[in-house]
Amino acid sequence: MNVRVVSRPESSAPAQGCEAAPVLRERGQREVFCGLTGIVWLHRKIQDAFFLVVGSRTCAHLIQSAAGVMIFAEPRFATAILGERDLAGIVDIDDELDRAIERLLERRPDIKLLFLVGSCPSEVIKIDLKRTAARQSERRSPRVRVVAYSGSGIETTFTQGEDACLAALVPLLPDESPSEPPSLMVVGSLAEVIEDQFARLFEAINIGPTRFFPMRCAEALPPVGPNTFFLLAQPFLGNTARALEERGAKRLSAPFPLGSEGTTAWLRAAALAFAVPAARFDASTCEARARADAALARHLDALAGKRIFFFPDSQLEIPLARFVSRELAMVPVEVGTPYLNRQLMAPELALLPEGPTLSEGQDVERQLARCRTARPDLTVCGLGLANPLEAEGLATKWSIELMFTPIQGYEQCGDLASLFARPLMRRERLEV
Ligand code: SF4
Repeated sequence: MNVRVVSRPESSAPAQGCEAAPVLRERGQREVFCGLTGIVWLHRKIQDAFFLVVGSRTCAHLIQSAAGVMIFAEPRFATAILGERDLAGIVDIDDELDRAIERLLERRPDIKLLFLVGSCPSEVIKIDLKRTAARQSERRSPRVRVVAYSGSGIETTFTQGEDACLAALVPLLPDESPSEPPSLMVVGSLAEVIEDQFARLFEAINIGPTRFFPMRCAEALPPVGPNTFFLLAQPFLGNTARALEERGAKRLSAPFPLGSEGTTAWLRAAALAFAVPAARFDASTCEARARADAALARHLDALAGKRIFFFPDSQLEIPLARFVSRELAMVPVEVGTPYLNRQLMAPELALLPEGPTLSEGQDVERQLARCRTARPDLTVCGLGLANPLEAEGLATKWSIELMFTPIQGYEQCGDLASLFARPLMRRERLEV
């Protein structure tokens, strides 16, 4: 049988992308959440897991206020706060921590996976949480597994907490069975509704078995090995990708599934790996793609030609800039990212038309000065910068919303575009 296998990129890259563009490296004061923030979405994702932050009152306040909705439910996170007796060395912190874990697991027998999450205080840094996790895992195996990672603001920004969490889980993944056919692993937290949409699409395209990591329950750890292909659904998972590759899995290089073009290219990377005929791929995706394109077209009037400035926050900035410039005709002025992983970003940088300043890291005062000079129509930034910039007459979008809103895939294209359109419309109304 002579089948034509999908082989072309969905749409052509610009004559000049940003692959070789110079990057402004900033190493000054930064305004970014720490990696503890990831607990806010991860605790909803893995439903029988529990996140025990070992930290200070500041850490407790951060996750309580960021995930405040949980006060009505039995929460799946808590902070073991170091008290003065711990800090003064009057008690043995390891013993205290063991007792706190004991009490927690007695009260909550539903917990199957316990994360010990490190933070910044120097007393916490001195605790070997990995050793505590290994000791506790051995004691409680197989009923509860205990894993440690760091969400400290010294080591991680915002979304890097998820990377640290998933990378710490990779050693627990079972080996794939030698007789298993090639499988696909989708890596990175996605809203359940999006996971279900992607699962249906992969099935329709004839790719699979498909598994998602993180998984919805601790016992469903996906197997991994040389017959596993994986697609990153989120751009901030460099350490997780490396850990999976060390287990033999093969990463499929692709743009991220933001926008119609990004989603098609992402799915197509899997279709290529699984040798899916082009006709089958096109037939399985064309309807959803047409819906996405129509949803995006409705926002073109409001967004085309508008200048946009991204402060570094979530590492979603480069894929978002690619999306808004190529599918909504917006003009990125500066695209900041807390960390630039050139390997993971190569397909995105090839598609992002040349022009914007690319910056990595932050020196917040200097970046604010550049933003004020540029006076963009829309600034995507952290909560702390949004209010002052609004007061100066600049429309802003909180970057954290782009993490908490389901935005990946075809069916979310309209919602994603409207996240950029709404602040502009609100400012227009204020000016009228
Ligand atoms: Fe603050 Fe560090 Fe705790 Fe994050 S981990 S809330 S940066 S003390």
